[in-house]
Order: sequence, then C-alpha cells, then structure tokens
Amino acid sequence: MAKQLLGREVAEALEEDSYRRSAALRRLGIVPRLALVRCGEGEDDIAYEKSILRQAARGGVETECHLLPETASPEELKKLLSSISGEAKVHGCLVFRPLPGKLAAEQREICNALLPEKDVDGSTAASAAAVYTGAGAGFPPCTAQACLEMLDYYGIECRGKSVAIIGRSLVVGRPLALLLTARDATVTLCHSRTVNLGDICRRADLIVCAAAKPGLITGDMVSPGQTVLDVSMNFLPELENADGSLGGFVGDTVYEEVEKTVEYISPVPGGLGLVTSAVLIKHVVIAAERSLK
Ligand code: NAP
Repeated sequence: MAKQLLGREVAEALEEDSYRRSAALRRLGIVPRLALVRCGEGEDDIAYEKSILRQAARGGVETECHLLPETASPEELKKLLSSISGEAKVHGCLVFRPLPGKLAAEQREICNALLPEKDVDGSTAASAAAVYTGAGAGFPPCTAQACLEMLDYYGIECRGKSVAIIGRSLVVGRPLALLLTARDATVTLCHSRTVNLGDICRRADLIVCAAAKPGLITGDMVSPGQTVLDVSMNFLPELENADGSLGGFVGDTVYEEVEKTVEYISPVPGGLGLVTSAVLIKHVVIAAERSLK
C-alpha cells in the first residue's frame, strides 16, 4: 500500500512560512496584498476564490476582490489589470482562468496587461519566459510549483530521475516539464497523441497526471517504487459519497489499483489542490519581499 502525499500537511507548512515572512514585512511597514479578479459567476471560480480568501488570512496576506460580468469586454478587463498593476499597495494579482465566454479567445493578450512582477500565477508571457529561461520577473503557474513543493516536503528527489508528465497545457504540464528539467530530471511530456503511454509510465520514477481523464492510469501502467502526483480534479456527478450524497472529484488514476503498487501517491481530493492555493499566497509574499528592493 502506497504512502499518501497529503496536501494539507504541505499547505500548512507553506502557510506557516508565509505567515512568518508577512509578519517580518509588516514590521517594515509593508502589508502583502493580493487582488483577485473574477469574471462571471462560475462555480469553480467562486469555490477557488473562497479557498484563497481563507488561505490568505492564514498566511497574513490581505485581499481585495474585483468582479466583472462575463459580458465584460477585453478592454474593460485589460484596463482593470493595468490599474491594479499601478497600485503600489497591491503586490500580486490573480485572474481566474480560463476566462469565460468571449473573453476566452483573448485570454493570453488580456493577461499580458498585468505587470509581470505582480503576476503571481504565471499568466503573462513574461512569466512564461522566466520559467523557460530560469531568470526574470514573474512566477510559475501555482499548480506546477505545487508539484515541486509536494516533492520537497516529502523529501522526494528528482535529480537524475525519469519523469512522465501526462498533459501539456500551459498551466500544468509544460511549465512543470521546464521546472523539473531545471532540477536535473529527465522529462517525457505526454499528450493525447502519445503512443505507448503505458510503457512510458511504467519506466518512469515519477508520474504526474494532468490529463483531466478519469480512469486513464490503471494498475498495469505503474511499477513498484514510483511516485504518482495526480493533479487532475475531475468532477463526477454520479460518484456516491460515504454519506450517500452524489457528486465528487477524482483524479486520473484508478486509485485503488495504482496505490497497491507504487510507493507514494497524492490522493484526489486531499492532494495538490490544497497546495496550489498555499503556493499562491507564498508567491504574493515573495512579490512583496521583492518590492522592498
Ligand atoms: P487541459 O488544458 O485540458 O489539458 C489536458 C492535457 O491532457 C492536454 O495536453 C491533452 O493532450 C492531455 N490528454 C488528454 N487526454 C489524454 C490521454 N488520453 N492521454 C494522454 N494525454 C491526454 O487541462 P489542464 O488545464 O492542464 O488541467 C488538467 C487537470 O488538472 C484538470 O483536471 C484540472 O481540473 C486539474 N487542475 C488542477 C489544479 C489543482 O490545483 N490541483 C489546477 C489546475 C488544473 P492534447 O494537448 O493532445 O490535447
């Protein structure tokens, strides 16, 4: 039976560190502050916003919420992001993505209206360049960074290890491939056209699942000694909970099969989701520290 990599423990350690660092900043007259920008009333965005507000309070970070209708124009949203960028008291800004409706098509350009120094969730081209080169302003997307925090907390080394990442999106797979390469791992970045996914997974030391496909990784695709990070949050309306209610989240792994073989596995829920918002708060504190210089 695999050891579970529990997000709660990692998130608490990150929150304690953020709280200690924000207290030091407050003594210097700086209060780390995060602006949240939500367009529309998407249920996922609202749930994530609530969890960020709770975690920000625990990390000593102040917050402000901006709400635009789903029908807002790209210009309105860009104007808001430029104005937040110009606010000296705001150190970080998160725009809930993917943007809804017609805004989605212009998401990349819209996000570039944000100053890279305040882009705490890696949404601008400058942040992507910083992840690519390992230098410059901006931050990696929080979910990609959360995977590294999980490995660090549990002392799982990735230098020299072979890694299979399943999913090549700009928010998870691609930036994580670069971050792990910078840590001397050898990465295979898989996607929907990858041939022999099972062989690639069985040979890896670390498997990161971010395909948004429940049931994709089965027991015959893993090997003893492996670590599995399951990033995916797939909502299944038909899933029956312990209390008899219906609806819940699963990852990409068939958990009960995979955990019999591998050494470490992150559960869904209870894994990387909790770490992601703790990383966001950490990024705001770092942005506030950088503003001192
Ligand atoms: P996405 O943009 O839909 O990307 C999915 C990726 O998986 C694509 O690259 C796709 O390949 C690949 N894929 C799909 N089916 C595949 C298959 N059968 N075999 C191999 N690869 C396959 O998703 P995302 O935004 O990266 O999110 C991925 C998951 O992570 C979602 O469940 C999301 O909810 C979750 N997530 C969690 C957090 C968190 O905090 N824990 C944060 C963000 C996202 P192609 O490129 O070829 O289409």
